[in-house]
Amino acid sequence: MARYTAAVCRICRRENAKLFLKGDRCFASKCAFERRPSIPGQTGPRRGKLSEYGLQLREKQKVKRSYGLLEKQFRSTFGRAERQKGITGTNLLLLLERRLDNIVYRLGFASSRSQARQLVCHGHFLVNGRKVDIPSYLVNKGDSVTLREKSRKIALVQESLETVARRGLPNWLELDKDAFTGRVTELPLREDLSVQVTEQLIVEFYSK
Ligand code: SF4
Repeated sequence: MARYTAAVCRICRRENAKLFLKGDRCFASKCAFERRPSIPGQTGPRRGKLSEYGLQLREKQKVKRSYGLLEKQFRSTFGRAERQKGITGTNLLLLLERRLDNIVYRLGFASSRSQARQLVCHGHFLVNGRKVDIPSYLVNKGDSVTLREKSRKIALVQESLETVARRGLPNWLELDKDAFTGRVTELPLREDLSVQVTEQLIVEFYSK
């Protein structure tokens, strides 16, 4: 699968927001965005006001990059959000949030979404007792996500679980650390999502 392989801190600097793509480093003083918030490759202050199209594009890129999706995957998730009842922008964010790789990250089994995706792809997780290795798999209310027994000694998982309190567990998820199992107690609502985004701009971007 194609993926972004360049330095991820550049993405935060480009999108002018902390996207938390690098695990613990994002919470430390070493965070590149905090040390150097300028646009990569640009010296001096940020350029003036963005056009309407520019604003829409940046908002779309911010969310897409935050969840680590490529354009084709993001566009297809948007299409699915459009076909659902309700507000398309909200549907989009909720679909992204229900992805298995995101749940693994939110539960604290991984310190970033890219790490979570790798763990899922390598078949380290069970959903309701069955192995699922598809990062885009959508979880539902009541689903359990368990780290397989043979994977429980992976150092990066253990380190990540130790620091989960710092990142905070969403109120719609529950974690039993001893059993290496998380549960989706509720599906998230828009107000449960911490992501700072104006999703309407993304809808406008794709409506052109
Ligand atoms: Fe972004 Fe994290 Fe890098 Fe900071 S450390 S710039 S939040 S990826």
